[in-house]
Amino acid sequence: MTNKTTKAIFLDRDGTIIWDKNYLASPSDIEYYPDTLSALRLMIQKGYKLYIITNQSGVGRGYFTLKTVEEIHRLIDQDLVSQGLPAFSGWGICPHAPDENCSCRKPSPQLILEFMKKDKIDPKKSWMVGDKLIDAECGIKASIQGALVRENSLSQTKEYPFFKTLLEFAQSLAE
Ligand SMILES: [Mg+2]
Ligand SMILES: [Zn+2]
Repeated sequence: MTNKTTKAIFLDRDGTIIWDKNYLASPSDIEYYPDTLSALRLMIQKGYKLYIITNQSGVGRGYFTLKTVEEIHRLIDQDLVSQGLPAFSGWGICPHAPDENCSCRKPSPQLILEFMKKDKIDPKKSWMVGDKLIDAECGIKASIQGALVRENSLSQTKEYPFFKTLLEFAQSLAE
């Protein structure tokens, strides 16, 4: 391991690491996929820093507060640490409703670009992965690679690599 450039995986949250509960507003509704922890562990073992990039328009729509979102994220980080993994290196949240026309909502690459600049991440070795086309598109717009995961009919396209599970994606990654 002489190559010191920092590589990263930017992950979508809902429908990718936890079940999409359609405006998740309560920590008790956090539910991981069976392969999530082993997938994240493998990514860490392969030397990637992990970030979450998530659209939380429920805040802008008034369904829940940013404070609630941050509490949910604190609990997810705590779950990782309790499993011997590092907490996520960053949480990129777009709290806006679509009609606010903000500059950070996926597929905008803005949140990824901010982390890449701050943490000096090598774009050629990095990925954005999620269950929707906007996730992969957001990666391409950030000049990194994009992939789709989970058996969601919305996600299957010839344009981007597709993996049935997050673990299969992690297994495909270079060391
Ligand atoms: Mg999603
Ligand atoms: Zn936004």
